[in-house]
Amino acid sequence: MAGGGPQHYRQNSFVLLGVEPMGNYALQPTWADGHTFGIWTFDRLRAVCPCDECRNAAASNAKP
Ligand SMILES: [Zn+2]
Repeated sequence: MAGGGPQHYRQNSFVLLGVEPMGNYALQPTWADGHTFGIWTFDRLRAVCPCDECRNAAASNAKP
C-alpha cells in the first residue's frame, strides 16, 4: 500500500469483508479492494458513533 497522497477508491473499496480484533483495544477492518484502512481503537469508534450512549459517554469523559 502506497503511503501519502489521496486514497484512490474503487467501487469495492466500500465493501467490508470483515473486521479483525487487534488485541483488546481496537478493530481492523478489511475491505474488498484489499486495503486495510488503519486500525480503529474503541475510543475512536466511540468518538465517531452518533448514538446517545456514546455521545453521553464522550461528554462525561471530556475534561474541562
Ligand atoms: Zn454508539
